[in-house]
Parts: sequence; C-alpha cells; structure tokens
Amino acid sequence: MRVLAFSHYVDLALELISAGKGLGEVSLIVTSDQEGRIGEIRGADEILLCKELDSGDQEGLVELISGLGSEYDVVLLAGDRRGRELVGQVAHRIGASSAVDVSSLSAEDGKLVIERMTFGGKAVAVEELNLPAVISVQKGKFKPLEEGEPSVREISAPSIDRRIEVLERKEKPKVGVPLDKAEIVVAVGRGFKKKEDLKLAYELAEVLGGVVGATRPLAADLKWMEEEVWIGISGVRIAPKLLIVVGASGQQQFAAGIMDSKVVVAVNTDPKAPIFEQADYGVVMDLYEFLPVLTKKLRELKGG
Ligand SMILES: Cc1cc2nc3c(=O)[nH]c(=O)nc-3n(C[C@H](O)[C@H](O)[C@H](O)COP(=O)(O)OP(=O)(O)OC[C@H]3O[C@@H](n4cnc5c(N)ncnc54)[C@H](O)[C@@H]3O)c2cc1C
Repeated sequence: MRVLAFSHYVDLALELISAGKGLGEVSLIVTSDQEGRIGEIRGADEILLCKELDSGDQEGLVELISGLGSEYDVVLLAGDRRGRELVGQVAHRIGASSAVDVSSLSAEDGKLVIERMTFGGKAVAVEELNLPAVISVQKGKFKPLEEGEPSVREISAPSIDRRIEVLERKEKPKVGVPLDKAEIVVAVGRGFKKKEDLKLAYELAEVLGGVVGATRPLAADLKWMEEEVWIGISGVRIAPKLLIVVGASGQQQFAAGIMDSKVVVAVNTDPKAPIFEQADYGVVMDLYEFLPVLTKKLRELKGG
C-alpha cells in the first residue's frame, strides 16, 4: 500500500509515519515552516518537501494533499482539530472513504480495517473502509520510529483560486505544559459555581506541579476556560500519572478522555456520580470545603 501522511505538527507526523509503516510505503509532506526539523524525521520512505506552502495555509493544504492523494491508497492525517478538519475536505475532493479518531489500522483483502471508539468511549468499533481512504489518527497511539532516514523530494504547491484571504496571524500565548503531555492534571467541572472559584483548582495544580483541564460545559458553554483544555471525546484525551477530577459528574463523553490516566481521584458531593466508577480514590464532599484543606496540607508537606 502507498501511504501519504501530513500533520501541522512534526511530533504528530512522526506518529503518523509509525502508523503508516504498518501498511506499506510512507511519503510525508513537509511544509516550509517544518523544513528545519527534517533531520528529526525517521521511518518514512520519502519526504515531499513543499517550500512554497506554510502549514498555516489550510486552503493550500487541502489542494496539495488532494492533488497528491489520488496517487495513494491511504492518506493519514493527525487527530488534532486542524487535522480532522482536513479529513472531510480531502476525502470529498478525491472521492475517498473517510474516518476520524482511528486508534489502530491494518490492511486486509484490499481494504483498510480500522478501530475507533464509539458510544462515547464505551465500545470499540471495527470498520472496513474501501480504498482510497482518508483518516485521522488518534494522538499518542503510535510510537515514533527511530530508524530509517527518508529521501527528500521537492514538490511545488498547486496554484489555487483562493476563496479565503488570511489578513493577520497571531501566536496564542503558550500556557505551560500541554494537557495531553501533563503528568498531573486537575480536571474541573460544573460543581464550581463561578469562574473566580476556579482559583481553588489552580492553587491545587500549582502545589502539585500540574495543570488544570475542564469538562466541556466549562470551556465550550460557559467559556470560563480556553477550548484547548477541554477533556473528552470531542476534546483532548489525557494520560496523566495522577488525575484529580473535581465537581465533574464523569459522563461518558468526558470519561472517554481520561481512561488512560493512571491514578484517578474524584471529588464530588454526589456519591452516585458516575465518576466514582472510574476513580481509584473517591472523596464524597463539597469541593469548597475539601480543596482548600487539601492544598493547605500539601503546601505544608512541601514545606511551603
Ligand atoms: C456529542 C457530545 C460530545 C460531548 N463531548 C464532551 C467532551 O468531550 N467532554 C466533556 O466533558 N463533555 C462532553 N459532552 C458533555 C457531557 O455529556 C456532559 O454534559 C459533561 O461532561 C458534564 O460536565 P460536568 O461534569 O462539568 O457537569 P455536570 O454533569 O453538571 O456535573 C457536575 C457535577 O458536580 C457535582 N457537584 C456539584 N456541586 C459540587 C460541589 N460543591 N462539590 C463537589 N461536587 C459538586 C455534581 O454532583 C455533579 O456530579 C458531550 C456531549 C455531547 C452530546
């Protein structure tokens, strides 16, 4: 099988190469802003270097990947928001089958067999896709390869009739360790009555050296936090060593995002909250009483 891969993030591209090598030959698209990291890329058969295109040019990427995609059996994209956005557009252009959030893939009888979570993470669906196929691969499922230096071929960007004009780009301020890489996470839910009260969670995270994540209602509906910190099936999937879930019910869409966490502590006033089914340690208590005491004790233990 011939596999074409691309991610806006080189780290995720390395995972895509690993996923693709199980199927056959992998060609990785590298854009102008990624060129400096070519030396880190291992395991792909070929790098297709497009110096005329920047990874921020989503419209250009759709054209480039669609143009090349018809020569390949499988197009692999990353499971981040921009990667998933490309899946539908590219699949539509080349008339391919498509799927997002794939966690395993293999070739069988000229078809692509994939696995991905379904029913909010309660079950795994095994699906067969006709080729060509365009899919996004879930983050963290494939370990980057360490061997195999690819050849590099320069390619040009297709000329396109643009419908979108980018007027300005601004870097988002970086806020500490990204949630999906954090070893300690405090996840907050609607048990918090107002935005200002979240400082209780930030103080706990600070003393533990962790970061704060949230359920979807806090980030998407109430807009108390950035969208990047919403955990779950439609947000970030996390795998910390310690997760403290505070004032979140643990509905399956949230729970699907925390199942790779090692130790889960839940704090909730409702002893029947579903989060306790996933927790290793449960505290049935009002967060407003419990968090200040916990943070104080931890500070004392640290001698602060
Ligand atoms: C298609 C779809 C996708 C979705 N994707 C996601 C997703 O990716 N991530 C996500 O999080 N949600 C997602 N949701 C929403 C999800 O179904 C839940 O509604 C959401 O997770 C609930 O958030 P919550 O736990 O903060 O709020 P609630 O369910 O309202 O829970 C609040 C909890 O706080 C407890 N509580 C209240 N007061 C206190 C207190 N003082 N002290 C301690 N505990 C207290 C309550 O007992 C309750 O258990 C999705 C929904 C749909 C339909």
